[in-house]
Order: sequence, then structure tokens, then C-alpha cells
Amino acid sequence: MLKIEQARLVTTHEIRECFGCAGGINKGETAVFITVMDQNIGIYLHQVCNVKIVNNKNALDSIYYGCLNDIEPTPQCQKKG
Ligand SMILES: [Zn+2]
Repeated sequence: MLKIEQARLVTTHEIRECFGCAGGINKGETAVFITVMDQNIGIYLHQVCNVKIVNNKNALDSIYYGCLNDIEPTPQCQKKG
């Protein structure tokens, strides 16, 4: 499980890869930059992917590369109530 130390909004200055969906984040797009404490790395997320990860906390044992692709097609993981 990644321990998230800090999340902030950034404007990308080059094309980045979204950690959640493995898709590209365009240059100049606003993205969420997350600092991961344990591994001393930073990851980028689309703003929508960040929201999806927060909303699916229960469905995700851990955040890993491309994790949103695994939960997206699963209907029972969609928001409850
Ligand atoms: Zn994404």
C-alpha cells in the first residue's frame, strides 16, 4: 500500500503518465501530484482519477500502477447508496 504523504495540484510541463489509469496526461493539463512517503517517489494522477481512487478506497487494497483499469469495469465497485 502506498502511503500518500502529500497531494497537490500541478500543471504538467511535459506529457506524464497517470498512475491510476496508465493513460497520458497532456502537457499543460492540471493534474494531481502525489508524493509517496515509503518509496520516495512522486506519481501523477488525472484529477478525475484521483477522485475515482478516493471513491473506491474500499475496493482497492492498494494503489498500484493501472489500478483504476481493474476496478472500472466491475459494476459492484461503483458507488454504493
Ligand atoms: Zn488517469
